Amino acid sequence: MIYGFGKGELGSETSHIACVNCGQKDFVKFTVLGKYFHLIFIPVFPTGRKGQSVCANCRHALENAQFNPEYTKEYYRISGKFKTPKRHFGWLFLFAIITPFMLWHQSCNAKEDNGFITSPAIGDRYEIKLGWRSYTLYKVASFTKDSIYFYPSTLEVNKERMLDDDKMLKEENFDKEGIFGLSKKEIIDLRESEKIRDIVRD
Ligand SMILES: [Zn+2]
Repeated sequence: MIYGFGKGELGSETSHIACVNCGQKDFVKFTVLGKYFHLIFIPVFPTGRKGQSVCANCRHALENAQFNPEYTKEYYRISGKFKTPKRHFGWLFLFAIITPFMLWHQSCNAKEDNGFITSPAIGDRYEIKLGWRSYTLYKVASFTKDSIYFYPSTLEVNKERMLDDDKMLKEENFDKEGIFGLSKKEIIDLRESEKIRDIVRD
């Protein structure tokens, strides 16, 4: 099951109350279970609790729905001692950790790229998304105060990570005749629309 409900024991305690079946004191053990909704075996959020009692003397067992008022009171007292563990909020905690890291990483990358646009260097490689499963490189040939001139690659690949392949980086695979210029403003717009996927400086 990729998703569904699970439960885990939060704790247990033997109570001083008398067993409803055999009348003996100090034998009834209450166990508190935390229920949760899980996705790919990692809990997403807790969905309540349930309890059980077992008498260690006569083995009489009850579910919390069957508890009499005395048992119920004792069950809530014991349940109150056990906090829901953080792992029952697994996905929420994972996102709480991952999201700031991703935002931080993204903003670092954006700052670095903006620096590469305002202060270009000959040889900077621009990773370009041309369309669905179509990527290429532009390489900085020269620049002025307001514009950057590029040699386009003569090659296209269908995966972004293939832009790092040796073949893509070969000097002969950039079209010197095809040199073209873009204003820095146009380049910033392309970066913001993510047509420029990344800017690489060796
Ligand atoms: Zn008993």
